[in-house]
Amino acid sequence: MESLKRIRIADLLHEWKSIGAGSTINLKGWVRTKRGNKKVAFIALNDGSIIHSIQIVVDLESFDEATLKLITTGSCISVNGVVVESPGQGQAVELQAREIEVYGTADAETYPLQKKGHTLEFLREIAHLRPRTNTFGAILRIRHAMSFAIHKYFNDNGFYYLHTPIITGSDAEGAGAMFRVTTLDDKKPPLTLKGEVDYTQDFFGKPTNLTVSGQLEGELGAMALSNIYTFGPTFRAENSNTPRHLAEFWMVEPEMAFHDIKDNMDLAEDFLKYLVNYALTNCKDDLDFLNNMYDKELIDRLKFVTENAFQRLDYTEAIDILKASGQTFEYPVNWGTDLQSEHERYLVEKHFMKPVILTNYPMSIKAFYMKQNDDGKTVRAMDVLFPRIGEIIGGSQREENLEKLTRRMNEMGIPENEMWWYIDTRKFGTAPHSGFGLGFERLILFITGMANIRDVIPFPRTPQNAEF
Ligand code: ATP
Ligand code: MN
Repeated sequence: MESLKRIRIADLLHEWKSIGAGSTINLKGWVRTKRGNKKVAFIALNDGSIIHSIQIVVDLESFDEATLKLITTGSCISVNGVVVESPGQGQAVELQAREIEVYGTADAETYPLQKKGHTLEFLREIAHLRPRTNTFGAILRIRHAMSFAIHKYFNDNGFYYLHTPIITGSDAEGAGAMFRVTTLDDKKPPLTLKGEVDYTQDFFGKPTNLTVSGQLEGELGAMALSNIYTFGPTFRAENSNTPRHLAEFWMVEPEMAFHDIKDNMDLAEDFLKYLVNYALTNCKDDLDFLNNMYDKELIDRLKFVTENAFQRLDYTEAIDILKASGQTFEYPVNWGTDLQSEHERYLVEKHFMKPVILTNYPMSIKAFYMKQNDDGKTVRAMDVLFPRIGEIIGGSQREENLEKLTRRMNEMGIPENEMWWYIDTRKFGTAPHSGFGLGFERLILFITGMANIRDVIPFPRTPQNAEF
């Protein structure tokens, strides 16, 4: 076969006018379908560079039958052919095949994606192959675009990307149950005289875990570089089998010196609107596909978020609204209890009908590092609540006062001696500062309109599931 430089299907569809009808090019990809009659075969070829497949027209007379037989749904081929303007509607160009090489066959009897229209549940069981479907191609390209947009937003706004550790020596972060990291022999761990596992003999000389958040280290960065962000994997060993929780998920955590809670809310709102706008502008084909296939209101919902100011209100006001709502909730509403996703979604979807930022939560339900209000009861926390998702961002202004911080740590039983490095920031050049955490997969849920968080990460980690 003549060796030609391969062109991505995305590039062909975008630039076919300059490539020129009549030119001979090479395409490589996976066969979605093959149909035809006694004279011609039509192959839909997709290489994942774009949602669209390209039609390859094969004149049966010019190819030997044995090769053509190998070209079935799922097989991988390389095609040299001539670009021709497509007579049919839908696509501008197609490829008239001249030479075909089959890289890999896919047995029609056993290839799991033989037919179209599989359920999302079934596709989860073949997570190793689902990227080859239109749906997961679209989701994975959007995930990429959002990662890129996150870095772009922060870079353009003077933030530095700080790499916080994934293995952490503190288990006091308080955001959730942790996964232990150890190299000790699980059958015969070394024991202390008291008969407990002797972690001084473990790899790090102390117990270590996978991080639940990069925030505490992020604060150390902000106290030197002013504005930083982290963007990395975080882990929670909670047995929460919900459509919004993963055991391994990606979190985006900006931390800003000299920002108070209002600046923090302004940033969160601007950031989210930027990301949604970025998707609307740069992921149009994939969003159109998801809008048509899964959720006819998806694009309208995305536009709505970018066009309207988020509603800001106090936790206490939210409780009053929920109590006066006349709704029966599964979990009762009382001042001092954490809001459940049903409450969050009522506020967003029924009451205000737009994203909501709740502030000034009861101190008792929030983490030790949040800035204490003068009322002695509430802290300067902020949660951003989104339609269909509930909490998408959790953040706060941080307590910068050494005395208040350590008092709260003692009340909550958080050992000062383990957190000495964190406390040092309040001893040496402390400053007002704020930050928040955006759950990356919750963002992707919102952008794609998918209903289950297992469908917006390539290889989901959930209780009882780490196969792929
Ligand atoms: P939730 O109440 O929804 O369980 P949280 O309050 O425990 O969340 P935070 O510790 O505030 O979560 O984490 C910050 C953000 O990370 C959340 O706003 C959410 O977007 C995301 N997040 C938290 N836990 C998970 C999880 N298990 N899987 C995916 N995303 C998560
Ligand atoms: Mn939270």
